Amino acid sequence: MSRYIATSAIRGAQGIVAEAEKLLKAATKEMGPQTSVAFPNTAYHLPVILGFTGQQVKTLGELEPVLKHARGLVPPLPRESLWLPYLGETLDAGVATLLAEEAIEAIRFAKGEQPEKNDGYVYNGPIDDIQMRSWGIQMVDGRMPGFAAIVGAAKSNEVAVKIVRELQSKGLLVFLSSSANGHSIVDQLREAGIELGYDTFTVPFGSDTISTIYALGYATRAAFSFGGFPPGNVREMLLYNKFRCFAFALALGQVDDLKYATAAGAINYGFPVIADTLIPNILPTGITRYEHVVSVPFDDIPGKDDLERAERLVQRCLEIRGVKVKLQKINIPVAYGPAFEGEVVRRANLRVEFGGKGGMCFEWLSMRKMEEVEDGKITLIGPDLDNAPAGSKMPLGIRVEVAGRKMQPDFEPVLERQFHHFVNGAEGIQHMGQRDITWLRFANAATEKGFHIKHLGDILHAKLHEDFGAIVDKVQITLYTEEPKVQELIEQARQVYHERNVRMAGLTDEAVDTFYSCSLCQSFAPTHICVINPERVGLCGAYNWLDCKASYEINPTGPNQPVKKGSIVDPGKGEWEGVNQFVFQNSQQKASRFTIYSLMDSPMTTCGCCECIMVVLPEANGVMIVSRDDYSVTPFGATFSTLAGDIGGGNQTPGMMGHGKWYITSKKFLLAEGGFKRVVWMSSILKEAMADELKEVCQREGDPDLLDKIADEKTAKTLEELVAFLQEKGHPALAMPSIL
Ligand code: SF4
Ligand code: ZN
Repeated sequence: MSRYIATSAIRGAQGIVAEAEKLLKAATKEMGPQTSVAFPNTAYHLPVILGFTGQQVKTLGELEPVLKHARGLVPPLPRESLWLPYLGETLDAGVATLLAEEAIEAIRFAKGEQPEKNDGYVYNGPIDDIQMRSWGIQMVDGRMPGFAAIVGAAKSNEVAVKIVRELQSKGLLVFLSSSANGHSIVDQLREAGIELGYDTFTVPFGSDTISTIYALGYATRAAFSFGGFPPGNVREMLLYNKFRCFAFALALGQVDDLKYATAAGAINYGFPVIADTLIPNILPTGITRYEHVVSVPFDDIPGKDDLERAERLVQRCLEIRGVKVKLQKINIPVAYGPAFEGEVVRRANLRVEFGGKGGMCFEWLSMRKMEEVEDGKITLIGPDLDNAPAGSKMPLGIRVEVAGRKMQPDFEPVLERQFHHFVNGAEGIQHMGQRDITWLRFANAATEKGFHIKHLGDILHAKLHEDFGAIVDKVQITLYTEEPKVQELIEQARQVYHERNVRMAGLTDEAVDTFYSCSLCQSFAPTHICVINPERVGLCGAYNWLDCKASYEINPTGPNQPVKKGSIVDPGKGEWEGVNQFVFQNSQQKASRFTIYSLMDSPMTTCGCCECIMVVLPEANGVMIVSRDDYSVTPFGATFSTLAGDIGGGNQTPGMMGHGKWYITSKKFLLAEGGFKRVVWMSSILKEAMADELKEVCQREGDPDLLDKIADEKTAKTLEELVAFLQEKGHPALAMPSIL
């Protein structure tokens, strides 16, 4: 443990806490202590402060005790004679720094100075909850290993681009902040023409070190949201991040006191800090999984040039943090990796597109006999893109035939649905939609590097083998670009899509004897278990019955296990003996009964990932459904996040339950309590997103106008307003038997 680092970090903490105190004093004097402070689009207030203190800070005045606490944490500068090789004081200085930094950003927001603007460029500022959740899920299920917070500026623009590209190709999120020697990595990337933003997995927080706090705000919220523990639980927060979120900070360029202090803060999350300059190391492991602070001086890294050194620097970071990356080598002329999935190909950069408005493009995967498929055969029938005018549209049919001893017709749609995610991984290629509404765009940058239509086949062949190797042995792809042939095949494909729809609709809970479990979330909610049946998706919305069935075939000892229904106990509530037994054995014996169609009697357990939460409202004789993306206070008197905090740790809570949003449209929705007619309040975002499907449900329930009788956050904020609304609209729940 270096005395030098401790001294710098403590000095940095003293400085930033003093600055925050000064700013707060001035702002309070100017605007008054009641002035509200908040980050936009988040239900977690000032997340780092919430995480460390449990305090929901909403006003300037409420920041005062926080800074007092921070002040108390800052230790005096170590004196030579008293120095002990002990990390505690440095860690405390780090926490004080984070509290002060977040307070400063909050004050800046109150003053309208955030997100930062610089020469017309607007930085991102904090990450909103919707994005946090979407990335958080990818971290939970392992698609995304973690994030890298880059602080400072690289040796050159070229090196900056290389580092970011390397991180992106490993699937890491890249957060960018601060400067070194008057330069910022954000400027370097922009100068090099790199597009920054959520779509490209790169988030520019701001040009100063203080804005690095947004990276920790993200980590804090991900931990609450997916870890299911209450705010203020510092130990849980550390453990969650240490083991679940593979993040690290990379300090490029000179490290000053404030950077040391912020680094000390990051260590409290188990995130190591790597510097590309010569600084003292803190090597003992303990808080972080591996080393705490590691110096990897850039110019000393072996390599023939700076680009190779940059690549090795990233490699070293991944080793230090223990990031496991599934390496993806696909033989195509552009880069490939999850970081490119969100890329948008705009008209100005468009070489050629397939499908979309006025176009024709489809994807169709079928199962064949072993002898009918030649593995790796990729054929293009029709013209390639070389002669197509710039920005033009071509017809395209993507026909994939697979064979495998464990392949089943039911898996065709499961595999086909992955094309979107597979194809999008290629740099400069954008994929939208599926089936006969597929829409593909190739950017100039991709075709200039030599990307051709045939390479779609290379991607699908490689990825189907990689991700579904357990069920697929052979993959052959034929790509059609001749209009009449595409037309002919799209008709056939539509027939198949239709047959699949009919089959899915007929795939009822009664029609199968086996459900599937999902225990993916037990790593942080140990008593939580999802039972997924044909008519009810998992509560995170990410897995349906067919997905689980395929996943079990792929990985028989994995998180999705078959659950034999066994004999039926209660058809109305959806209770089976086999399910009860399974749940008892797999919930650490916390839940002994599990009903699949009831909210009031032994409902399923809830973990932090649920898309929606349903709560019984006896006053309205019905239930409300709040969406994760709705930040308002519901008529129940709590927000989604409060409710999730109360029930999301793997508990079974009669009257309250997390569920996937598509469960609302199921015929088995709330069967025991009377079905969809029990819904008296629903977040408007759900009503809008599922408008067509919900209208069908209302028809099915024999009340075509039912949707208009259901209140939302705009029409009813309190129970009184809700009941008045329901009476005025004549909502059927009021006349139903008591829900209790
Ligand atoms: Fe977690 Fe259930 Fe989703 Fe599986 S299905 S990831 S257990 S919420
Ligand atoms: Zn979960």
